[in-house]
Amino acid sequence: MAVLKIQARIQCDGCGTNFLVDLDAAAMRPKGWSLYDQAVDAVRGGIYEVPRGGRHGGGCCSVQHGLCLCASCTKIVDEHTPDPNSKKQVKRALNRYVVPLGAGAA
Ligand SMILES: [Zn+2]
Repeated sequence: MAVLKIQARIQCDGCGTNFLVDLDAAAMRPKGWSLYDQAVDAVRGGIYEVPRGGRHGGGCCSVQHGLCLCASCTKIVDEHTPDPNSKKQVKRALNRYVVPLGAGAA
């Protein structure tokens, strides 16, 4: 048997949308890492897909100051914060420009 694909479903800390990242099935985890750590690492600079019925297309997700962000939120943060940014600047950009999942539904 060969394990072909291991995925983690992540909830974006910015907008709440769900997305899937692939974990490297062949990679060894660094000593002391949990499966959670490996999933967060997969978000870091990873390409992802959105589950059926998802809110937007795939893209490059990121981890910024401990926040796992989908491609849309990553783009918003990148556009509205300096490089390097602070956690406060990231949270301010998310609060100002991101519409949380479920908001705006009549
Ligand atoms: Zn998001």
